[in-house]
Amino acid sequence: MHTLTRAEAVARADLLRVDGYDLELDLTAARTSAEFGSSTRVRFSLREPAAAAAGGTATFAEMKPVALHELRLNGRALDPAGLDGNRLALDGLGPSNELVATATMRYSNTGEGLHRFTDPEDGEVYLYAQTFLDDAQRMFACFDQPDLKAPVRLVVLAPPDWVVRANGAGTRTAPGRWEFTETAPLATYFVTVVAGPYHLVEDSHDGIALGLLARRSLGPYLQADAGEIFEVTKSCLDRYHELFADRYPFGKYDQAFVPEFNAGAMENPGCVTFRDEFVYRSAVTDAERELRAVVIAHEMAHMWFGDLVTMRWWDDLWLNESFAEYMGYRVTAEATRFTQAWTSFAVGRKSWGYAADQRPSTHPVAPSDVADTGLALLNFDGISYAKGASVLRQLVAWVGEEAFLTGLRAYFAAHAYANASLADLLAALSTASGRDLAGWARLWLRREQVNTLHPQVTADAGGTLARVSVIQTAPAQAPTLRPHRVGIGVYAPPAGREADPDAPVTLVRRVEVDLDPAAPDGRTDIPALTGVPAGRLLLVNDGDLTYAKIRFTDADRAALPTVLPRVADPLARAVIWAAAADATRDADWPATEYLTLAIAALPVETQLAVFEDALRFARATVLNRYLAPALRPAAAARLHAACRQMLVEATAGSGRQLSAARGAIGCGGPAEAAGLAGWLTGDDVPAGLVVDPELRWTVLHRLVVLGRAGEAEIAAEAGRDRSARAAEHAARSRAAIADPAAKARAWEAIVADDTASARLVAASAEGFWQPEQDELTAVYVARYFEQMPAMTGRRTPHAARQIAAAAYPQYAVSTATVDAAEALLGRDDIDPLLRRVVVDATDELRRSVRARS
Ligand SMILES: [Zn+2]
Repeated sequence: MHTLTRAEAVARADLLRVDGYDLELDLTAARTSAEFGSSTRVRFSLREPAAAAAGGTATFAEMKPVALHELRLNGRALDPAGLDGNRLALDGLGPSNELVATATMRYSNTGEGLHRFTDPEDGEVYLYAQTFLDDAQRMFACFDQPDLKAPVRLVVLAPPDWVVRANGAGTRTAPGRWEFTETAPLATYFVTVVAGPYHLVEDSHDGIALGLLARRSLGPYLQADAGEIFEVTKSCLDRYHELFADRYPFGKYDQAFVPEFNAGAMENPGCVTFRDEFVYRSAVTDAERELRAVVIAHEMAHMWFGDLVTMRWWDDLWLNESFAEYMGYRVTAEATRFTQAWTSFAVGRKSWGYAADQRPSTHPVAPSDVADTGLALLNFDGISYAKGASVLRQLVAWVGEEAFLTGLRAYFAAHAYANASLADLLAALSTASGRDLAGWARLWLRREQVNTLHPQVTADAGGTLARVSVIQTAPAQAPTLRPHRVGIGVYAPPAGREADPDAPVTLVRRVEVDLDPAAPDGRTDIPALTGVPAGRLLLVNDGDLTYAKIRFTDADRAALPTVLPRVADPLARAVIWAAAADATRDADWPATEYLTLAIAALPVETQLAVFEDALRFARATVLNRYLAPALRPAAAARLHAACRQMLVEATAGSGRQLSAARGAIGCGGPAEAAGLAGWLTGDDVPAGLVVDPELRWTVLHRLVVLGRAGEAEIAAEAGRDRSARAAEHAARSRAAIADPAAKARAWEAIVADDTASARLVAASAEGFWQPEQDELTAVYVARYFEQMPAMTGRRTPHAARQIAAAAYPQYAVSTATVDAAEALLGRDDIDPLLRRVVVDATDELRRSVRARS
């Protein structure tokens, strides 16, 4: 198969314009067949008709059929055998042309192209198309690049009892025949169809028809949550209409929750697809509901930014994602009940960006060297999403809200239904703000890595601040200092309660300053804080406006375990938690220091997203990877006790109680196992805690890891719960059974079973490695490095990446593992995707080794 290069895409877009697609998909046999029928009629014109007269035109279209039955160009039959891999050579073009291709295509089980899924609960078959990046060619013949946009007319033949949805509004014109209205011009990567016996909920708002879809077995859960999902959808639509001053451009708005989806969601115009884990069949916390709201808002932002105005080439993929990410959090905070969305961003999402940006594989937010579609996929990471969004947030702080919105509106107006690039956006924002953004963009968007901001404070004898400075540093390999607009906060207890250990610590003075990147030693003085009482904490990046790692003064750092639990502002706490995690990752702090902070502050952390992220870091990173194995059991018991304390104190039936219960399960050691086992039989369950299917699987998995349950218990649970989620849980737990034969079976599934869906194989990989099972799995460390190249060679890109990442031996913390990884990376014949997975995971492993030494 050929990967499209940027040079080829530029040449093809210079040569031709696509006028429209007529597609017919025959899905009638989907219940029994792994293949479907696809007919394409695509009309396209040469941009320079004179070129046709000269006869010097040749190009190609793409498709990946199982069998190509008929191929006609301008009425002339072409030999289907002329298909070279995924490319159809086209020559002898006239000013206007028509290509007809009739083919049999194959459904996928990897979430790429037209995915086919059989629900284990009721045997029903569900389809959805994910054509992102360059998978439209798995469904129909096309010019598969983002800047050849064209209207799409679609007809779908399906079983008569199915629901079929697509980008345009659909009508059932005969039993099993669906015709969809012609769409506005779409990039090929947005063309979707969702088909099956889906449960459908409908509503409308402001003249826009709204639909929600989920598998029939999830129907009751979708029904129960439809009110909240519609409310978020409507609030966000209203807010975007206000902000962008431009109506939603694609008619109706469907949101389909689909099985085995690889990402969070996909912004297909008029028909967004989401992973169906967002339809909750068991209790969830408000942190999870907030995340769903953020994803809804994120996809909606794409309707304008990405869908209406589309990037010309994948080097601006970051711009799509950064923008949607920024707007997603912002609009969720502004327009829904989840007003603390930026707090969740600060503690969780942003850490993803910082981590990615400090690895050897880091790249600028805006890369200028995305040569082909394969490389584009590699950059789909924490830098494109979280760092990009943080940088946009910094941009808004820097140019101001009004200029930002004015520039955006001009950008949408100028490029609607067409394509644009970063330069077009910067030009619009420069005009609106009257500031030249070129220098700003160079430092923030074209240079990789992250700065660190260190406070430096001297106080006089009376306890007032004499001199406050912020020192900005950069890593030696990327020595760029930046013009940060940053908040500095002084936090203190109320006057008269300075000695009270329970007094809240609140913001008493805040200044916003521009750090000077050209200042000697990177030092910017903050004279506005001179003479201010020193308080208990000086917080750099108060309000989280900038993208930078922060540190504390030595005195503030030492006092954090007593101060953090009293800081009243959730966003300030999030910034502190994130900084603590980051200092621990850098081995600036010993792992035990983070644990001490976590044990002191977690039980009173009221912001659930913050609690969950801090606990996840304490457990998954500090406990399982950074802490010396000998210290682990005692530390786990202390963390478990902190969760238990919170569990006792939490309101019965609250999200906080659920969070604490999950935490207690995950940190439980052998001593706690008996108590956990009781939850499955109804013994000693905390009042108000519902041990529903998801929580049962969480408990069972933990018991399996600890050797207190095995195949019999897993089989029994899978017998009670026959859902698709249960199938994944069962695969994950079977891979975690503390037994050599079970490990051997699981490993075989990971490296050699190409028939199971990518999702199920990845679940096995997730369960396989457990810090408690080092001895049992030691022999598989070398096997990972031996066998992954063959696995990735056989698998599609998404599947390969997902499985290789989940199967990496992250708990085998030793220089021997690092050496084995280096040996693999030394080979020049490994897939770039696997290389990226191994480079990143090995960098994390090195941090683990450093933390333990
Ligand atoms: Zn997105």
